Formats: sequence, C-alpha cells, structure tokens
Amino acid sequence: MSPDPVDESRHAETDLIRMRAALEEARRAAARQEVPIGAALVDSRTGAIVAQAGNETREGCDPTAHAEILVIRQGCAAAGVQRLPEYDLYVTLEPCAMCAAAISFARIRRLVFGAPDPKGGGVVHGPRFFDQPTCHHRPEVTGGVSSDDSAEMLRAFFRARRV
Ligand SMILES: [Zn+2]
Repeated sequence: MSPDPVDESRHAETDLIRMRAALEEARRAAARQEVPIGAALVDSRTGAIVAQAGNETREGCDPTAHAEILVIRQGCAAAGVQRLPEYDLYVTLEPCAMCAAAISFARIRRLVFGAPDPKGGGVVHGPRFFDQPTCHHRPEVTGGVSSDDSAEMLRAFFRARRV
C-alpha cells in the first residue's frame, strides 16, 4: 500500500496542534526556572489530551521528574492502568534514555518529539534505546515536529542562565 499524501498532511497538522500543548508546558517550565521541556499525552481513541506537564526536576528535587515521566504517571493514574498502548506521547525534545525506557515500559503507541538532542537524546542519538535487542516495545516514532520552536526556547533559556 502506498502512503496517502492527504492522510500524511492531516497527520502532520494534528501533530502540530498537539505539539503546541507540549510547547506551552515547556514555556511554563521556563517561567518556573526549569529546563523548558514539555510533554502531552493523547488518548488516540478520542484524540483528547489527557495529561500535560513540563519538567519539574528543580522544584521537586527529583532528577527523574522529566516531562515524559510526569505525563506517563498522570495518564496511568487517571486510567488506573500500568500500560498505555492506546496513547501517544508528544514531547518538545528527543527523550533521554530514561524516558525512552519509561515510554517502552508504558507501551506507548506513538512517540512524537520536537528537536533532536545530540547531547542527551536516547532515541536517535546515544543509546538509541528502542533499537536495542533488550527493548521489548518500540513505539512508532516521529521526530522534528515544531523542532525550531523547541530548540529556540532551550537556547534562550541556557543563554539567559549564562549571563
Ligand atoms: Zn528524560
């Protein structure tokens, strides 16, 4: 079956809209002096955003409080389940290895990320977690959605902190 270009564009438009929710969380994180990374969790059956969060490592004194981990926790708690095979996760930056592992454990259906992260990413850089034989669930992955907005927010954040 050849890919339908109409469906492709509709897909991309939906991704852009959902990524906006993740970007808004990244903005809120920056306002709290957290690294500006945001995530949104979408129920693919309804299209509803069921959880959204920005990084909270500083505020929570918790090095594991990345946006992806927070939305997975919220989504699982809300649904009363430990796996989310019908859910799609949107995040503004390529997930790190820890978050990639959590995404795999949660059986997330689709991962959509913004900017690639050559320094700390674990999906298309570094450990490439989903490509390892020890990884037992690989989500469908789409990268580079609203990549420029995400990268610019991170650049501005670190630029301000260096001054
Ligand atoms: Zn992470």
